[in-house]
Amino acid sequence: MSELNLILLGPPGSGKGTQGERLQEDFRLPYYATGDILRAAVAEGTELGRTAKEYMDRGDLVPDEVIIGVIAERVEGAEAADGFILDGFPRTVGQADALGEEMEGLGRSITAAVLIDVSDEEVVRRLGGRRTCAKNGHIFHVDFDPPKNEDVCDICGARLIVRDDDKPEVIRHRLETYHEKTKPLVDFYEERGVLKRVDGSLEPEEVGNRIRALLATLRMEEEL
Ligand code: AMP
Repeated sequence: MSELNLILLGPPGSGKGTQGERLQEDFRLPYYATGDILRAAVAEGTELGRTAKEYMDRGDLVPDEVIIGVIAERVEGAEAADGFILDGFPRTVGQADALGEEMEGLGRSITAAVLIDVSDEEVVRRLGGRRTCAKNGHIFHVDFDPPKNEDVCDICGARLIVRDDDKPEVIRHRLETYHEKTKPLVDFYEERGVLKRVDGSLEPEEVGNRIRALLATLRMEEEL
């Protein structure tokens, strides 16, 4: 495949981050997760971070005009010349349109939008049990990946916290936002013939295998 311009779609907690990091290693492509970029900006106290924080704490999306430039800059960069993996962007039809125009301007197109499909109940179960290391962001889960000592990071010994946006009322709001603003992108990419669905309720390893299999199929089709 000449280029792999990949979008990971799915509700919060569907495993986009886990899969994105694996794909980044497999394909040696830059991985851009807007949630991580924004959290880093908040931690650094940059102008972007100061603007984004109040929206993020509420579980609302930051405005399109704030985030579109952040991604456009990266997609245009030399690092992304052979492709990229996007996680958490686009999240609205406005963002998807902007990305489409950006790609067209560069003479490129989206190779695939992979929907990692997970039910709302599963999202609440996954995110509600998530504990994040206050110092380095390592993630544990009270059921699936418990730390050896309750509320203490195994890796660096710092305190584990519930991220503000993993609190139950915020999770519910993030899900509503997903259904209202982001779910329409499933149709958007289906209409453009690039949507691929993967069952996100499976074990992470299996989800990863299926994504790699569908990308391999795309590559074969391209070579035919
Ligand atoms: P995530 O880690 O992807 O769930 O993102 C955490 C938060 O960052 C979201 O709840 C939003 O407030 C914000 N965010 C991340 N990506 C976007 C985006 N593409 N558009 C708007 N807000 C975003």
